[in-house]
Amino acid sequence: MSKGNEVVLELKNVTKIFKTHNNNMLTACRDISLNFYKGETLGIVGESGCGKSTLMKMIMQLEDPTDGEIIYRGQNITKLKGEKLRLNRRNIQMVFQDPTTSFNPRMKIRDIICEPLINFGLIKRCERDEVAKKYLDMVELSEDFLHRYPHNMSGGQRQRIGIARALALNPEVIIFDESTSALDVSIQKSILELITKLQRENDITIGFVCHDIALVTQICHQVVVMYLGNIVEIIPGEKLYKYATHPYTKTLISSVFDLNMDFSKKINCISGDVPSPIDRPIGCPFENCCESAMEICKKQIPKLRELSKNHYIACHLDLGEKNE
Ligand code: SF4
Repeated sequence: MSKGNEVVLELKNVTKIFKTHNNNMLTACRDISLNFYKGETLGIVGESGCGKSTLMKMIMQLEDPTDGEIIYRGQNITKLKGEKLRLNRRNIQMVFQDPTTSFNPRMKIRDIICEPLINFGLIKRCERDEVAKKYLDMVELSEDFLHRYPHNMSGGQRQRIGIARALALNPEVIIFDESTSALDVSIQKSILELITKLQRENDITIGFVCHDIALVTQICHQVVVMYLGNIVEIIPGEKLYKYATHPYTKTLISSVFDLNMDFSKKINCISGDVPSPIDRPIGCPFENCCESAMEICKKQIPKLRELSKNHYIACHLDLGEKNE
């Protein structure tokens, strides 16, 4: 599925169903199977409510899957409890969309960065300045920030601190959950460049969750498109614009505005109501909105199938052999 070979993290048939307060069943993720490869970025894209953040929370062990397995380096981490669970958290870290909500506003930046290291007994309190300086340098901030508080910083600087804190435990995997979505475009660009640089230097495996398909293609080796809790397409990032095949992915791409775009071309909008995850269709989840829908689409959920090397799609359309 990728140009890299070494699988670091594997999701096998992962499903998450929540019980709502009315005792309805809400399927947030359905039968998700994915591989994260060493040193590569896997982008997960889809609109709000498609299940991408729930999926990442399960990887972070903040939510338990209802079914399926999440395997890190050969070990099923969904079964870990107590100290084993705590120790495993060192391997997979997360950078949130709004770092301020995950920072204690009364803590200095030095302490925010060093807190995980102190919790794991990896440094002494007297070493905080030296250690924090090193991580500030990694995220291209000066040591002037050591004794500042989060509210004395811009959004971009706070996000750099979020990255420094995630890096502190030297994790093999970092999940970025909409981590650049709230930033101005120019700041977003510099954070993306930083993430790419850190990945190159430290061989980090990245999960990059985003609702912006244009952004995902800039840094992701592999892109996973989700709709209503299902994977509908997996495609190498570099091929996305040219070879995306699923009707939903194509709609997402055609809705991207670009100054150089052909303004005479029709923009595909999603028509029809998006089904509720509580009352899911029996067949294809996109059937209600798909211009190419056929009779079979109402009755049968399409399985993910390989279209060409590293390119998978869940759709009943007869697409024949593709030459990519
Ligand atoms: Fe459209 Fe049918 Fe393909 Fe679903 S399976 S995306 S409804 S053609």
